[in-house]
Amino acid sequence: MTNHLYDALIKHQVNPDARFLLIDEPGRPGELSYSVFAARAAQIAHVLVDHGVSPGDRVLVQAPKRTDMLALYLATVQCGGVFLPLNTGYTLDEVTYFINDATPVLVICESHKSEGIAPVAKTMGATMLTIDKDNTGTLQSLADSKPGTFTTVARGPDDLAAFLYTSGTTGRSKGAMLTHDNLLSNAETLVDLWRITSKDTLIHALPIFHTHGLFVAVNTCMLAGACINFMDGFNLDTVLEALPRSTLMMGVPTFYTRLLTDERLSPDAVSSMRLFISGSAPLLAETHDAFSQRTGHRILERYGMTETNMITSNPYEGARIAGTVGMTLSGVDIRLCKPDGTAVEDGDIGMIEVRGPNVFKGYWNMPEKTAEELRENGFFITGDLGQIGADGYLRIVGRQKDLIITGGYNVYPKEIEDLLNDVPGIDESAVYGVPHADFGEQIIAALVPMPGAELDVEKVRSGIEASLARFKHPQVYKIMEALPRNTMGKVQKNVLRANHVESAA
Ligand code: AMP
Repeated sequence: MTNHLYDALIKHQVNPDARFLLIDEPGRPGELSYSVFAARAAQIAHVLVDHGVSPGDRVLVQAPKRTDMLALYLATVQCGGVFLPLNTGYTLDEVTYFINDATPVLVICESHKSEGIAPVAKTMGATMLTIDKDNTGTLQSLADSKPGTFTTVARGPDDLAAFLYTSGTTGRSKGAMLTHDNLLSNAETLVDLWRITSKDTLIHALPIFHTHGLFVAVNTCMLAGACINFMDGFNLDTVLEALPRSTLMMGVPTFYTRLLTDERLSPDAVSSMRLFISGSAPLLAETHDAFSQRTGHRILERYGMTETNMITSNPYEGARIAGTVGMTLSGVDIRLCKPDGTAVEDGDIGMIEVRGPNVFKGYWNMPEKTAEELRENGFFITGDLGQIGADGYLRIVGRQKDLIITGGYNVYPKEIEDLLNDVPGIDESAVYGVPHADFGEQIIAALVPMPGAELDVEKVRSGIEASLARFKHPQVYKIMEALPRNTMGKVQKNVLRANHVESAA
């Protein structure tokens, strides 16, 4: 029997005894080989099947980052199910929405959440099990007594392997349906491009409910037979301590800004490192430059999203250009379009549309949404605005929904943010539009000063006004201690807009 994704990740491992995970978990050894991990996944697959999971069934999980959570991913794929991990920060109300929408056969959470979630699962006819930090959850205990081999269920390239819900910053969160080949084709391309091999050890400090930490990081390493240093989350001391024993890191921009605050980040500390990768949110050019000055490493920035996996990457060999997300991955097509779907002139800003084996199958239960965003010719409308320079590199100009239209003019927040971020004393900024009776929208600039810096807002204002056309001038400047961000480090402009509207009211 062949299982497109499982076979590639595990069955064809060249050396099953190679180290796969470095962990620090109660009651577990510090290192697990590929074969030990595969046996654990097989034990869990038995539990899934015992609880009614058949091919195509959703296995919904909101659980801490543990080996068993990762083994549950592999187990679900092995028994033909659809893995559906949820952000651990979601509240009971949010989890209720996901259970009702996805109608899973099995719901898995931490014991302390089970009292709240159980009635919801029951109403939807789903069984409940638990995964706990101390590895004593019901799923974990049941798995302990199961055989370490499982007859893999056949699944083809087009069968579903996972649903990831989008972060839903506007409207309802949507379940992106990802197939075995969406995941495998993308991981194969990245392994090749980023030269990942069995000699690599990855610093893994990302969550595993998101495409970055789960598919980009884990699938690539498994395909290559690499080792993963599997950390609970990003802890500066733990990461700095691991650097000298690692070769690879995948992170969000905040990992890099946090590393830069520590004097221990030095050329010596990174002497065994081969590659630092950043994505999920824009990496400021100044972070890129500061990191390269401090360590000699040019961070490789890439771009992708839940629905499409990875789309572009800066090159492994060749110039990694700050402020760009590089070039289209092999096998993937992109085009920049006007709202009517026709291509923009070379060098102009347009909506990024993407097509390829990486692009998802649509949104679960939302045929209209799918039809709005996935064209019949296979191009997916990302919602991101981009521009391709004469150098052929893609620059992300912002999200379409963050575009400000004021007095009939289009204003791209990033253009103003880039100028603000260069002002001495400004650590970071966010520019956004709020409703305005005359102009349609007015421009607000939120500024975060560097620690200890006293910002003179009038000076900032006059500097910006000297560099930009009048219609791009922010009308209001606000000083903030920090910008609101989600777990993946993305600035939540919807929160900024809502706070503004609320305080104005
Ligand atoms: P998600 O589906 O949570 O992975 O979010 C995808 C969105 O993150 C994209 O549509 C972009 O808006 C943003 N994004 C991802 N990588 C980058 C990057 N390197 N630079 C700028 N934005 C990015």
